[in-house]
Amino acid sequence: MRTIKTHTGKIYVDDERKLEFLTVGDYGKENNIKAAFLGLNKEINGVKHKPVDLRNKWVATISTQKGCLMKCMFCDCPKYGFHGNASLEDLEYEIDTILRNETVGQTKRFNVHFARMGEPTFNPNVLTFTREKLRGLVNKYIKADTIHPVVSTMLPKENKNLANFILEWCDIKNIDYHGEAGLQFSINSTDEAQRQYQFNHKSLSLTEISALAKRLPQPVGRKYTLNFAVTKDTILEAGRLTELFSPDMFIVKITPIHETHSAVQNGFDVTTCYDDYDVYRQFEQPLLKAGWDVIVFVPSREEDSDRITCGNALIAGV
Ligand code: SF4
Repeated sequence: MRTIKTHTGKIYVDDERKLEFLTVGDYGKENNIKAAFLGLNKEINGVKHKPVDLRNKWVATISTQKGCLMKCMFCDCPKYGFHGNASLEDLEYEIDTILRNETVGQTKRFNVHFARMGEPTFNPNVLTFTREKLRGLVNKYIKADTIHPVVSTMLPKENKNLANFILEWCDIKNIDYHGEAGLQFSINSTDEAQRQYQFNHKSLSLTEISALAKRLPQPVGRKYTLNFAVTKDTILEAGRLTELFSPDMFIVKITPIHETHSAVQNGFDVTTCYDDYDVYRQFEQPLLKAGWDVIVFVPSREEDSDRITCGNALIAGV
């Protein structure tokens, strides 16, 4: 296994198991998030790198599949091919490796993002792992005040089990974890053609996602999240979004599309977003006016160049 040190943690590349996963600290939400509804009002014009402390927030990002069958235009994971789902044991191995190799004994928050390689809704082991294994595994190594698992999905249309997976995840969030879990839908655009291009025509339509969203139970704790990875060319119409989704059930999260090989090759303008809040403001302000809770999250240039951000896969060797 290869261990790659980054500015804020480590990336583990396991060529034998065909897995990649990472452990990082966070700069603190007052430094990389703007969210008026959380009282964080400062515009983020670039994020300065500074030392992080896992005792404040610890983020583990793990793979749910060995590569990916989806072909999202901004993501390098498909370049690795597809070698099956991560088994229950693989998921345990990823978290166990992350915890075992740090000396930290406690943290305020341990986040688990099922978001390195793979589309998590294709892998039912994610549900079993979160429900039955995750908390015991974390407690074996550290005292975590909060354990917060997060599923992000691009809502693959060929997944016949998609709705069942998502509804079961909602139960895990609302019941098993008493609200301390996240569900994020990757939306990226309110324009159907732009969105389908980005997800390579492999995602449900916005109307289908809207219908699915109406079947979700009222969230306990934090609302569900609509993710928008943006460039300045993104189409995000607040009015259209409100027709599709309820601001009572969902918040909107805006991030830049990361500088992956695929994003660059496919012509996404990934260079303008990091230091200039104007790009985010054009999306954020109409949403706020329409009554949406909005989080703008910006990584530092160091984090993006370390390739810890979504859509990267060092194992693909590109
Ligand atoms: S973004 Fe997710 S679903 Fe899309 S290709 Fe990458 S890993 Fe697969």
